[in-house]
Amino acid sequence: MSITIDLHTHSNESDGTDRPGEVVENAIAVGITHLALTDHDSIAGWQDALDHRSDAISLILGAEISCQTTDALSVHMLGLLFDPENIDLRNAMDQTRDNRITRMERIVGKLQEAGIEIVIGDVYAELREGATLGRPHLADAMVKKGIVKDRSEAFEKYLHNRSKYYIPDASPTPENAIRLIKDAGGVAIIAHPFASLRGRIISPEYLESLVEAGLDGIEINHRDHNEGERDALRVMVRRFGLIATGGSDYHGTGKENRLGENTTEPEQLERIVARATGFAPVGG
Ligand code: AMP
Ligand code: ZN
Ligand code: FE
Ligand code: FE
Repeated sequence: MSITIDLHTHSNESDGTDRPGEVVENAIAVGITHLALTDHDSIAGWQDALDHRSDAISLILGAEISCQTTDALSVHMLGLLFDPENIDLRNAMDQTRDNRITRMERIVGKLQEAGIEIVIGDVYAELREGATLGRPHLADAMVKKGIVKDRSEAFEKYLHNRSKYYIPDASPTPENAIRLIKDAGGVAIIAHPFASLRGRIISPEYLESLVEAGLDGIEINHRDHNEGERDALRVMVRRFGLIATGGSDYHGTGKENRLGENTTEPEQLERIVARATGFAPVGG
């Protein structure tokens, strides 16, 4: 049987649109055999995903940890197979989710100042209780208000990282996130590090410093990396003996990304599983 490994997906416990169990079911339906659920700063979806465990799919549970460098660059760190009971990592995710609320109020305030009619309640109306708040929920509110036609237009016109309305989220540094994930027995993979179309990106030198800080791997196969960026990352992976991964960054109907559109090689997943001490793959 052929193996298809997708190590980056979101449910409606953050800014995806499928329930966690639906992500699992939809992944099985398209032939994915190994799936990581990686909601932003949350493990709230793990249980529903586990409730949908099946012989058809191996679940590699994790989260995508929001980070900010000391010079205010946004970085995302995938943490896989960490201990969900680890208190320091839980507290860090809780703190980031809290900070996302103040941040959203400030973004909405800036939009209001520019004459755009939106209030924070409109944003909350788009958020599932307890889910991680993010710009996609604001985008959904703007769609409801008729300000834009879809999430993509909202990001293009108002919400992208170079927008005057943008505010980064207050979150741990990448170095801290790596430490937190690894102390919880997990594996730390930096998500889409060279995705320049998203905004300002980290330098190769800084990425090298994260390797010294304990980074385990790099997500290379991702929609937002062009060929040149993938090549540059392959060089880094080879030079430092890092794990290379790929994932779809599926968000249900919230984004065009299709499950399995970018994947991870089996031997790379084997390295992740061998290194993790916090949690094991379930099902499959
Ligand atoms: P935040 O977590 O609030 O910083 O928002 C970032 C999220 O917005 C990421 O998960 C992206 O997947 C999502 N995003 C970025 N650009 C777009 C876009 N053009 N359309 C839909 N979602 C997007
Ligand atoms: Zn997202
Ligand atoms: Fe990300
Ligand atoms: Fe993501």
